[in-house]
Amino acid sequence: MNIHEYQAKQLLKAYGAPVAEGVAILKADEAEAAAKSLPGPLYVVKSQIHAGGRGKGKFKELGPDAKGGVRLAFSIEEAVSHSKEMLGNTLVTAQTGPEGKQVNRLYIEDGADIDRELYLSILVDRSVGRVAFVVSTEGGMDIEAVAEHTPEKILTLPIDPEAGVTAEDVAKINASLKLEGEAAKDGETLFPILYKAFVEKDMSLLEINPLIVMKNGRLRVLDAKVSFDGNALFRHEDVRALRDTTEEDAKEIEASKWDLAYVALDGNIGCMVNGAGLAMATMDIIKLYGAEPANFLDVGGGATKEKVTAAFKIITADPAVKGILVNIFGGIMRCDVIAEGVIAAVKEVGLQVPLVVRLEGTNVELGKKIINESGLNVISADDLDDAAQKIVKAVNG
Ligand code: GDP
Ligand code: MG
Repeated sequence: MNIHEYQAKQLLKAYGAPVAEGVAILKADEAEAAAKSLPGPLYVVKSQIHAGGRGKGKFKELGPDAKGGVRLAFSIEEAVSHSKEMLGNTLVTAQTGPEGKQVNRLYIEDGADIDRELYLSILVDRSVGRVAFVVSTEGGMDIEAVAEHTPEKILTLPIDPEAGVTAEDVAKINASLKLEGEAAKDGETLFPILYKAFVEKDMSLLEINPLIVMKNGRLRVLDAKVSFDGNALFRHEDVRALRDTTEEDAKEIEASKWDLAYVALDGNIGCMVNGAGLAMATMDIIKLYGAEPANFLDVGGGATKEKVTAAFKIITADPAVKGILVNIFGGIMRCDVIAEGVIAAVKEVGLQVPLVVRLEGTNVELGKKIINESGLNVISADDLDDAAQKIVKAVNG
């Protein structure tokens, strides 16, 4: 689960991290009061969408010469006029996809005088099985590009979970970021704070790009992107309250209600599979035969008929879906339950596109019988290869 920048900053501020004062607004007529409440004379008006690259982004409605989604304002009047121009428009950034995202909320912040822009993130480094800091002096830009062209400018520092962030770790990060004096002292407080927030709140990513050294020599968190581990949300009511479902895919929200692992993709073959590994293999084989999956969907091990029906509805609700492949291995799951779920769903929502079903495992014969006797136009398949070929053929003609 992702949250907005202003929420991430409030959360980090509560832990004691240095962030600017700011006010989130939903309407342009709130901009003046928001800016007036800040010290000035420099203000920053920031689009709040769940995507990065806002500064370099472009508003669809405003043409190529207009300013981006993060704007400096040198007076209250300018902050107000930026707010009026930005709110309600669609911001396209390198991370939003070409359709962009509507800006429904702005964050008006006290502007900082920047000396240097740094990069700092905390993530789960699976290669060492630990939480790690990733830092670089090359902040404010695309870290993937830094990783590709100048990997020597990035330090990855795994943290020992027993010891936490040690003085030695802090020294390494400070040295890598070339922090001295006041800024290095700020680092000594900030890095353990960020680690604490990450662990306590079950984050999966905390990215500060940029972390800045201000002209006065102090550190400040200038941008903040936080993602939380969805599997730990049950124990963080405060975090769940930060969810902004308007930023999420409607199908993914529906899927999460049913506890289905669903991710919308760009292709046209809807997939309903049990088990993440089989789901990945199914997507691969669809690609092998020249088509693209419309989604990743793992109905899980012990899905009920109701859950299968919900999954089927989510797939068919996607107008891009031109064919559906159901690929189930009945281990814990029984094939007859799947068959009944599929048939119940088809009867309820109708079937406008070809459907290929491949069942294997427990009660497979009964499952096939149920499908064959249903009178529905279902193409049955014997194995994964056969199923993929049949659905690609049915869709591509
Ligand atoms: P992003 O483009 O979505 O990553 O948004 P950021 O919050 O990182 O802002 C983009 C850029 O705007 C930063 O890298 C800074 O160069 C600039 N910026 C943001 N806030 C301030 C500020 O307070 N003062 C100054 N001078 N520049 C800022
Ligand atoms: Mg940024």
